[in-house]
Amino acid sequence: MAPQTLTTDLDAAAVANRLRRTFATRRTTTPDWRRDQLTALRSLLTGHSDELLGALAADLGKGPEEAYRTEIGFTLHEIDHTLARLDEWLAPRPAELPDRLLPATAQVVREPLGVVLVIAPWNYPLQLALTPLVGALAAGNCAVVKPSELAPATSAALARLLPRYLDGEAVAVVEGAVPETTALLAERFDHIFYTGNGTVGRIVMAAAARHLTPVTLELGGKSPVVLDPGTDLAAAARRIVTGKFLNAGQTCVAPDYVLAIGDTARAVEPHLAEAVHEVYGADPSGAGEYGRIVNERHFDRLTALLGSGRTVVGGAHDRVTRYLAPTVLADVAPDAPVMQEEIFGPILPIVPVPDLDAAIAFVNGRDKPLALYAFTASEATKHRLLTETSSGALTFGLPVAHLTAPGLPFGGVGESGTGRYHGEYSFDTFSHSKAVLDKPLG
Ligand code: NAD
Repeated sequence: MAPQTLTTDLDAAAVANRLRRTFATRRTTTPDWRRDQLTALRSLLTGHSDELLGALAADLGKGPEEAYRTEIGFTLHEIDHTLARLDEWLAPRPAELPDRLLPATAQVVREPLGVVLVIAPWNYPLQLALTPLVGALAAGNCAVVKPSELAPATSAALARLLPRYLDGEAVAVVEGAVPETTALLAERFDHIFYTGNGTVGRIVMAAAARHLTPVTLELGGKSPVVLDPGTDLAAAARRIVTGKFLNAGQTCVAPDYVLAIGDTARAVEPHLAEAVHEVYGADPSGAGEYGRIVNERHFDRLTALLGSGRTVVGGAHDRVTRYLAPTVLADVAPDAPVMQEEIFGPILPIVPVPDLDAAIAFVNGRDKPLALYAFTASEATKHRLLTETSSGALTFGLPVAHLTAPGLPFGGVGESGTGRYHGEYSFDTFSHSKAVLDKPLG
């Protein structure tokens, strides 16, 4: 039977029940089925990369190199990593037993959860829909994928292509916005994996609670960059700029602001301006790889923040093309508008702080970030940041890159999210670790 793609008049119960019937056949639990689905997903990505790059350009103005690297290539790496280790992850793990239970054997078996729901956002609309799906399929689940309506071309491409490649009785794509997501959330799933903002995260968690469904919430927030005196500011500036202005700043783990200790606040300004010129040229509007703001609402929200500090570089904008230049603002006060919420756009404020104590107090005085970044030459500073702050990730010397390492758990803490994924962490997220004890009679 042809797989279903629903755009209107969604019968969410019918979708969920169809997948539940498939799960009951147990065919998705076999290693062969899992491998076939992952291999088919790989073929989809390699066979339709031009079409997908076109959709990403239409939705977000993403240049082909950046879009390939951060969306298609990223997902391919995740598939390859998973395929290479699937047998190992599927093998039961022997567990130790206390003497009083011997003789007996014990093992941990990771079994699929059942039917899971993946709700994706618009900023990396391909990667953030498919990477969780890789974990869900590897773990042997059926899955409903709900792409973001704010990336309509990518959403349509996923709805068109996924059913052609994957088992249509086990994977469904539901396109749509709030009504469709609300209808889905009324159904019982065995796991809900949501990526997006914390307001909707609360809606998802409340809906999941009605069915005691576990959730993964991949949220956002303000990820600071601590700049310590003594660090190589030119090198740091290049790496901050590269991470910050990727996808025009619309990256959940983008450096949100620079917490500049002592005289680094002034000293880093020319380096940041130079790094922007180096990466994007004198006129970034003509740089093929520099993206656009997703829609006018976000464009208006962002341009209203430009007055929060002194402009070091950038500031140019054009509402018609939703272009906002890579912008660095200096002398930004902690209570300035740009410091109130996650920026999620190409504006980088520099907030001066007198010393490391003040930087740590600044971080700890706010929501726990999805990522904390630091540039420092001091091991003592690294140790203090590691032990005295909490964040989804802590990275020294290279913002954003931690998410490309499938061996590292990717996720937030507190307001930046709950749960984690990538690599084996995805497999775990979409599995139940079953305790199995076998004691002979007599
Ligand atoms: P979005 O608007 O696309 O929303 C995400 C999903 O929620 C969409 O599928 C949307 O249809 C659905 N949704 C929206 N309103 C809803 C409602 N009322 N009820 C049910 N579902 C609803 O994306 P967004 O939230 O603007 O994404 C940006 C945020 O996501 C930022 O905060 C960013 O930091 C965060 N983010 C986090 C990660 C991560 O991996 N941690 C990745 C990307 C983005």
